[in-house]
Amino acid sequence: MNYLHIIALMLLASILVPLVFSKIKGSFKEYRNGLTGAYLSDERRFNEFVSEEASIYDAHLKFNEKLAEQASLYEIVKEMSKGLKFFDIFKMLSEYLYMTFLFKKARLILIKGEDETSSINMVIETTGLQDSTLKAKGIIPKLEIATRPLCEHDNKISNILRDEIRRIQIVKSKWEQNPYAELLPENCQTFMAIPIVIGDQLMGILAIEDLPASDYEKFSILASQFALEMRRIVLYEKVEEMAITDGLTKAFAKRHMMERLGEEFERSRRHNYDLSFLMIDIDHFKKYNDTYGHLVGDVVLKDIVYILKQNTREVDLVGRFGGEEFCVILPETGRDEAHLVAERIREIVQKYRFKAYDESTEVTISIGIASFPSNAGEIEELIENSDQALYAAKNAGRNRVCVYAG
Ligand code: GH3
Ligand code: MG
Ligand code: MG
Repeated sequence: MNYLHIIALMLLASILVPLVFSKIKGSFKEYRNGLTGAYLSDERRFNEFVSEEASIYDAHLKFNEKLAEQASLYEIVKEMSKGLKFFDIFKMLSEYLYMTFLFKKARLILIKGEDETSSINMVIETTGLQDSTLKAKGIIPKLEIATRPLCEHDNKISNILRDEIRRIQIVKSKWEQNPYAELLPENCQTFMAIPIVIGDQLMGILAIEDLPASDYEKFSILASQFALEMRRIVLYEKVEEMAITDGLTKAFAKRHMMERLGEEFERSRRHNYDLSFLMIDIDHFKKYNDTYGHLVGDVVLKDIVYILKQNTREVDLVGRFGGEEFCVILPETGRDEAHLVAERIREIVQKYRFKAYDESTEVTISIGIASFPSNAGEIEELIENSDQALYAAKNAGRNRVCVYAG
């Protein structure tokens, strides 16, 4: 290598070295910018994460609040499920409403089903608490719940909801646009009515006056739980009814009759009341069945129970004792009075035309009577003696009433 070579190399180096350096510097800058960018985006992500975390925390708090609310809802529902009667569950609901909301009045309108489900037309009503300052001070008057018949307002709501199952919600400030405006009770700011449907039947209406609109959602949740409880009670009543009544005639079954007779007998003994017992049997019913068939015979059994119920008082109890044998418990009724009742029933049956499957027929019945205390001192005696009186009526030619002569 000569001198010229060295100079050429040095020249090349003086060009290349700054080039390489600037390249390295550029890469470093890029790298640094990259790092800053990454850092900034990490920081942004971190901030986003923090705010997300905060909102998760908020949501968590809200969720906990809701959970607490639901827990108390659950408690009230659990309590409600212990009640077996509409009054009991309404009482529990009222207690919850009373402690939780401000409202003027709440009511449950019970509507008798078309298929004679056991509920009756009746209103169970409670007055709420409207003064939040009293509530804050813990001055809470005693909750009052009462039952009453349906008033005009209840009937109006029932008629509307019977035609169309829907929620009625009226707020006075938006009064004019509301198609149900006229249902807003006097001196009320809000009104809400929620239908309770079981199967396809309107069984009840839960209505509340002057509940703040902000509580509507919460109240609706409660109302739907309440509806479930009502369904449970209706089901329970149906099962109970199946257990105590005879499926064909809907008269009380023998076992239930015996239980009720026990209660009535004790009551009569305690208060020195008379009590009469009628044992009723259809005359020549075997022949009737042979002539017209069992199905026609079944209609006769049903009609006889109908006649018995129609011609006795609410407090009297009609039961099916056996195949074509029935009995009636007549509380607070002496022998002579019972005789009149039995004679009237016998006559009505004799005149009645039993219509079934194109047949129009007639039957007669025989009735035996025994009464406490005049001719029976114990339940067994009462039944036994009425049976003997029935036997005497049959022997005397049927279609007649006999009082036990003992
Ligand atoms: P008596 O006047 O002496 O009472 O004569 P009877 O034929 O009514 O008496 P018996 O006890 O011999 O017959 C009772 C009949 O009742 C027999 C049965 O065919 C009928 N019977 C019992 N249970 C039912 C029922 O559930 N449906 C129908 N259709 N018939 C029944
Ligand atoms: Mg018989
Ligand atoms: Mg008979």
